[in-house]
Amino acid sequence: QYKEKACLIGSGNWGSAIAKIVGRNVTEHDGFDREVKMWVFEEMINGEKLTEIINTKHENVKYLPNIKLPPNVKAVPDVVETCHDATVLIFVVPHQFVKGICQKLVGRIRPDARAISLIKGVDVSAMGLTLVSDLIKQNLNVDVSVLMGANIANEVAAENFCETTIGYSDPDNAEVLKKLFHTPYFRVSTVPDVAGVEICGALKNIVALGAGFVDGLRYGDNTKAAIIRLGLLEMKKFAKMFYSGVRDETFLESCGVADLITTCSGGRNRRVAEAMVTTGKPLDVLEKEMLNGQKLQGTLTAKEVYEILSRQNLTHEFPLFTVIYRISFESLPASHIVRDL
Ligand code: NAD
Ligand code: 13P
Ligand code: CA
Repeated sequence: QYKEKACLIGSGNWGSAIAKIVGRNVTEHDGFDREVKMWVFEEMINGEKLTEIINTKHENVKYLPNIKLPPNVKAVPDVVETCHDATVLIFVVPHQFVKGICQKLVGRIRPDARAISLIKGVDVSAMGLTLVSDLIKQNLNVDVSVLMGANIANEVAAENFCETTIGYSDPDNAEVLKKLFHTPYFRVSTVPDVAGVEICGALKNIVALGAGFVDGLRYGDNTKAAIIRLGLLEMKKFAKMFYSGVRDETFLESCGVADLITTCSGGRNRRVAEAMVTTGKPLDVLEKEMLNGQKLQGTLTAKEVYEILSRQNLTHEFPLFTVIYRISFESLPASHIVRDL
């Protein structure tokens, strides 16, 4: 009889890569149910349901093509059905969708469940800034850890070595989660700093847009390194200003400096921002043209963070985040990225 049962809420590029790891790990450790249900936002692909394709071919042909998923990962189109019997809820959807999903799950999960968020983003409403982990906690009344790191999904799926960071508040949960995620090629470190880990993951996507702009301008590697360094400073300043317990060491974990470097080299936010400079098209148009249904997180996050900063008269304290927002959404020429700093 198993004690733990994991499920995945999300099946995009990262959701599918992580399904490969979790699906494997539940068969390698004792105490886990072998079945891992994965919620899929249903869509038709050449006349066939994506859930059916995943369950027969064991491949997410749209969001992670050419990677085999373990056969014990079962695609399910209903999110309540996916989650109702799970003790570990793994949230991995683009951040704009998490609120709606949480609302569907209220009162429909096990009372002894806990969650982990792999989602890089924040929520901003009239109430102010809310971490995705807090959003999940407030809606579902469960402990929420986070997992963030230098983890470009396609590279993880190819089993190229990398590190990642779990931020936790309950050490017992961290222990179970490490078993679910750690592999020899995906090395998990755990730190008792949920907010610090999560804010790193969210804010680095804004900096990645800046890296893309300087790439589009062909300013070279020194300029990009400057953007990365200044971005790291603003990430740290923002985290400490809004969340008092955030630890300095967290910024040196995979979720901090390492994710910033990888995202500013090989990430989607960087790539689309570069194309904005070279083509003159808006970011949302390029997102649709270039990503085949995958979603950018940096654009909405830049907007959300700018909204918080301007509401609190703090834009002058965060010149990089502010100029990236203005280039992205107010038609400011990209060259201002260095001029306005
Ligand atoms: P993705 O970018 O591949 O997004 C596509 C997913 O969104 C698909 O599963 C699609 O079905 C789903 N979707 C589309 N419309 C929807 C709707 N209305 N409601 C719900 N779902 C809908 O997703 P991803 O790469 O798995 O990213 C999920 C999170 O993981 C993001 O916050 C991202 O920043 C983070 N992340 C991504 C990577 C990566 O390399 N892809 C790495 C680390 C973290
Ligand atoms: P992008 O969403 O910019 O591709 O970044 C992926 C990521 O978070 C790598 O850790
Ligand atoms: Ca405990």
